[in-house]
Amino acid sequence: MTNVAVTDLRNENFIGGAWTPAASGATETIVDPATGSAVFEAADSGPEDIDRAVRAAHEAFATWGRTTPAERSAALLRLADALEAAQDELVSLESTNAGKPVGATGIEIEASADCLRFFAGACRTMETQGAGEYLEGYTSMLRREPVGVVASIAPWNYPLMMAAWKVGPALAAGCTVVLKPSELTPLSSLRLAEIAGGILPPGVLNVITGGKQAGATLVEHPLVEMVSLTGSVGTGKAIARAASDSLKRVHLELGGKAPVLVFDDADLATVAESVKVGGFWNAGQDCTAACRVITGPDVHDAAVDAIAEAARSLVVGPTTDEATELGPVISADQRARVQGFVERAVAAGARAVTGGSARDGDGFYFEPSVVVGVDQAAEIVQREVFGPVVTVQRAGSVEEAVAMANDTDYGLAASVFTSDVGTAMEASALLRFGTVWVNDHIPLVSEMPHGGFKQSGYGKDMSQYAVEHYTELKHVMVKW
Ligand code: NAD
Repeated sequence: MTNVAVTDLRNENFIGGAWTPAASGATETIVDPATGSAVFEAADSGPEDIDRAVRAAHEAFATWGRTTPAERSAALLRLADALEAAQDELVSLESTNAGKPVGATGIEIEASADCLRFFAGACRTMETQGAGEYLEGYTSMLRREPVGVVASIAPWNYPLMMAAWKVGPALAAGCTVVLKPSELTPLSSLRLAEIAGGILPPGVLNVITGGKQAGATLVEHPLVEMVSLTGSVGTGKAIARAASDSLKRVHLELGGKAPVLVFDDADLATVAESVKVGGFWNAGQDCTAACRVITGPDVHDAAVDAIAEAARSLVVGPTTDEATELGPVISADQRARVQGFVERAVAAGARAVTGGSARDGDGFYFEPSVVVGVDQAAEIVQREVFGPVVTVQRAGSVEEAVAMANDTDYGLAASVFTSDVGTAMEASALLRFGTVWVNDHIPLVSEMPHGGFKQSGYGKDMSQYAVEHYTELKHVMVKW
């Protein structure tokens, strides 16, 4: 079936307010994960294209960086309205490109618009310490100034929403942006570029497509002053190393391995529903996925049964079907990677209570899986699987559960299920994660920061704190 939203797209870069063919003419094939069929050829940008985009952003910064917050706010509000108006088309693009069930994708477009609206407000209320006479005869004041040209590099799991998380605070702060979506999922960002082209001045938001090499070239460009990545830990480290040469500012939202602490007094129906949503949303390809359940000693077996039953109840099917809850993973490689994790765990003595294998037929589907009998040191517990796979482990006490939860390189998100407020408060304080939910797992709001501890990165997306990351503080001291 022809997807009109896809055929309407241009396979060029959006630079300085105009569509620009990639200099090399090289392209990358974009595939629908639900069918395995090619749907688009995206430009694979080289150094010449990237230089052009960064220079356009640099030129635009001279004026955009000096607009008033009210002007930037008005533009972001128009952009949010325009995204909402294009919701059906964006859902279709996102579903075709990222293998998302259409019925579950509208919420991502709404969240993207909400994010832009939040930053439209946030840039008008930035705060600093008060001006004053901190030395006799002098008045000191603080200015918050935009960092400059930002390279925003996005992953494939929520293409448009991650672009909004990056672009929203940067534009709100007065920065200009070169956005590079993932080489697997550029379609909604190309549409975003077109929509933004009618709203933002030329060069304020540039979109270039391409892969790792394009990202690396962008990071090294001397006119880029900040790099904001959402991606894997390995990419975060590569970018931090590359940026260190010129001491560019770096903002890293990286992977996660979220523990779900289920204490003996937890309500198991709530746990099962929360893991059904939080563990399998987006086929488990979520940095905060509820993938690592750790239960109290008495509730383990009942929790396994409830979670396995919830996983079995998921509707797996075509992404074009409104009733589908679980779609494919992003690629054949990703499915093989997920399969590898499960096979190695089973070979080491674990057991898949449900699922555990790929689905026959077209597309990159993997059965919703619940795996038990895993060691704390096992790679399936320690490493990000990024697929529809949830492990369940047993802990002997609250202290042991917290210690197991913290025993990982990641620190993005965690959740606690209990009916005792004291246990909830104690565990929330001890868990070393950037977000802790109590009696739920996964909801996010634009007003609150999202970001990691430990190797899940540094810098926060969303919230007032995100805008601050895209600014530099300047002290102006005036002698009387
Ligand atoms: P990835 O790290 O492979 O790629 C992310 C982006 O970085 C892509 O656009 C890619 O082209 C680019 N890139 C890769 N190598 C680069 C380099 N050396 N220099 C510059 N750019 C480079 O990640 P992915 O597989 O696309 O996404 C999945 C990862 O993203 C998971 O680890 C997931 O947890 C993480 N993620 C984190 C958050 C968060 O908020 N913390 C949100 C979503 C996804």
